[in-house]
Amino acid sequence: MMDLSLNNLSTDHSGQVNNVKMVILGSGPAGLTAALYAARANLEPIVLTGMELGGQVSLTNTVENYPGFPEGVGGQDLVELFQKQAERFGAHVEYDTATYVDLKGSPFRIKTYNSEYITDTIIIATGAQATQLNVPGEKEFTGRGVSYCATCDGWFFKDKDVIVVGGGDSALEESMFLTRYAKSITIIHRRDSLRAGVILRERAFSHPKIKFIWDSVITEIVGDETVKKVKIKNLKTDEISELPTDGVFIFIGHVPSTQIFTDLLDLDEHGYIKTDILLSTNVPGVFVAGEAGDPNYRQVVTSAGMGAAAAMQAIRFLQANEENQPVPIKS
Ligand code: NAP
Repeated sequence: MMDLSLNNLSTDHSGQVNNVKMVILGSGPAGLTAALYAARANLEPIVLTGMELGGQVSLTNTVENYPGFPEGVGGQDLVELFQKQAERFGAHVEYDTATYVDLKGSPFRIKTYNSEYITDTIIIATGAQATQLNVPGEKEFTGRGVSYCATCDGWFFKDKDVIVVGGGDSALEESMFLTRYAKSITIIHRRDSLRAGVILRERAFSHPKIKFIWDSVITEIVGDETVKKVKIKNLKTDEISELPTDGVFIFIGHVPSTQIFTDLLDLDEHGYIKTDILLSTNVPGVFVAGEAGDPNYRQVVTSAGMGAAAAMQAIRFLQANEENQPVPIKS
C-alpha cells in the first residue's frame, strides 16, 4: 500500500518552501469538500482560502436547497461546518491567495502572499465572481449604492427604493431578501420572461414590494455622493427614461475566477477550465472542482460533489504515480 501521509510539511510564513501532496485553491463548497476527502486520505491538504473564505456561498443569506437542512442553512454557517469537518481530519486552511502558479513540471510550484508550496497535485476550486454591467457610473458607485451582494449590503437600504438587475434565480432570490429592508424593489430585466425557476417567480410576482420593468437595460448609473437615479433603455422601443433610486443591486451571472491559469491550462471561450469526465485538466495532477470548471450547474451541492470527485481522482493519481501504474478510473 502506498503511504499518502506527509513527511515533510512545514507551514511556516517566512519564505521557506513547503513540500506537500496537495494544494487546494479556493475555500468554497468545492474546495472544502475536496479538503475533507483528501484529509481523510491522510494527505493533510493545504487549502488556500483566496480573498473570501467560503466563496460566494458565504455571501448568501440562506441556502434552501442543500440536502440535510430542511429549514435552510445560513451560507456562512454552512461554510463554517464544511471547514470544521475538513480540519477535523487534518486539512490546513490558510488565509492566503496564490499569486503565481508553475505547472510546467511535476511537482508544481505555487507562490502565495505569505509562502511557497511545492506540491504533487492541485485542485482548482477558485469559483466565480459577479459579472458587471459595464455601464458608466457602475465602478464609481460600487460601495456607494451599487452592490453585488444583498446579504452584505441590504441592511443599508432600510426603507429605501432599490433596483435589482437580472432575471435569473439570483436576482429573484436576492430581491426576496431585500424585501426585509427596502421600501420597494424594481427588477429590471432585459427580456419579457424570467430565467428564474417557478417557485422564485411565483414568490416575486406575488410580493407587494416587488415590481418589474421588462425588456429594458440600465445605460447609466447617476448620483453625487451616492446613487440617485438610473437611465433605462427600453430595448423594444429604444425609449430612454430615468428612474430615481437609492441603490442598484446587480445579479447578472458570474465569470469563473481562472485568470491566473490563462496561459497554463486549456480554458473554454468563457474562461471555464476544460476538464474530462474525471475532472482532470490537460495537465496530469491538476484537477478542477466547482464553478471554475462548471458553467452548467453552479449549485452548492454540485460544487461539493465535484470537490469530492476531484479529491478522489487526485488520490488515485498519487497512488498510481507511487506504484508507477496508469491512473485507475475506479479504485
Ligand atoms: P443566470 O441564471 O445566468 O442569470 C443571469 C440573468 O442576468 C439572466 O436573466 C440574464 O438575462 C441576465 N443578464 C446577463 N447578462 C446581462 C447583462 N449584461 N445585462 C442585463 N442582464 C443580463 O445567473 P444567476 O441568477 O446568478 O444564477 C446562476 C446559477 O446559480 C443558475 O444555475 C441558478 O439556477 C443558480 N442559482 C440557484 C439558486 C437557487 O436554486 N435558489 C439561487 C441562485 C442561483 P437572460 O435571461 O436574458 O439571459
